[in-house]
Amino acid sequence: MATIGFIGVGNMGGPMAANLAKAGHAVIVFDPVPAAMERARAAGCAAAASIAETVVGRDAVITMLPSGAEVIAVHAGEGGVLESCAPGALLIDCSTIDVAAARAVAAQAAERGLAMLDAPVSGGVRGAAAATLTFMVGGAAEAVARAGPLLEAMGKTVVHTGASGSGQAAKICNNMILGVSMIAVAEAFALADRLGLDRQVLFDVASRSSGQCWALTTNCPVPGPMPASPANHGYRAGFTAAMMLKDLRLGQQAAGQVGAATPLGAAATALYALFCNGDHGAEDFSAIFRMVGAGSA
Ligand code: NAD
Repeated sequence: MATIGFIGVGNMGGPMAANLAKAGHAVIVFDPVPAAMERARAAGCAAAASIAETVVGRDAVITMLPSGAEVIAVHAGEGGVLESCAPGALLIDCSTIDVAAARAVAAQAAERGLAMLDAPVSGGVRGAAAATLTFMVGGAAEAVARAGPLLEAMGKTVVHTGASGSGQAAKICNNMILGVSMIAVAEAFALADRLGLDRQVLFDVASRSSGQCWALTTNCPVPGPMPASPANHGYRAGFTAAMMLKDLRLGQQAAGQVGAATPLGAAATALYALFCNGDHGAEDFSAIFRMVGAGSA
């Protein structure tokens, strides 16, 4: 069993750290929010008072932080992970951050002889609690193999995506598909409403035709066809519109850096920004139907 320093035990990191403790690992956590620390302690983790105390002498250090700025600060700052961790420690960042920041931190780690993986997840808070997350892992194959038992305690699927940064690339490309397809599905239902086509009929046809996609058949944005989808439960998230906007913006940032043309990604980003600015950021991202389909039914 490993000793693991875990930094950032919020909505995702909290249950992930708890699952590592449940699997028998010694987990030492740090988070500036006292309630998050208390929850982790109740789940069997030990509390540390600083980043240095969290990581010193541990086999691995896992981070689950809001954005690239925090990941850089926690690793490269004074008393940070790179300065304080054991020489052979394996660093695994599970946050969703920009590709450039992921590559920059991994390069700084490599300068100190430390292996670092970018390992963002999909599956959300429910997947984190149930240990069914999917990890998209960028970095050296040997480090990915070392990380296997830890990732498997927190998830059920581990995909080695390639070199450093490729985990983040896979995550933002996937979520750009998701954001664009959710808006497409919402627009189709809005059009069907105006054409007098029953929503259930559209669902029955499209779910068995070439319009089939996750946004339609799992997270259907209109109430009715999929009883478990957030549309039937007041659009309670799920995956929030604010999270979708964050990931779409990361996609646009990356597209700008490499000169990729992503006009639909850009449009989806603008629409989710409008939606979130209208104070809907905490709703499930499928609630964008209420904006694109306004007045259709
Ligand atoms: P969160 O805000 O609940 O948790 C982040 C935690 O990091 C907080 O508890 C915060 O106090 C802590 N933190 C911030 N700065 C810190 C620092 N300098 N040192 C130590 N701790 C610090 O966010 P979350 O929902 O757990 O998301 C975490 C990451 O996972 C994000 O990158 C997000 O994009 C990604 N993600 C979230 C979901 C989801 O459904 N919530 C799904 C997939 C991926």
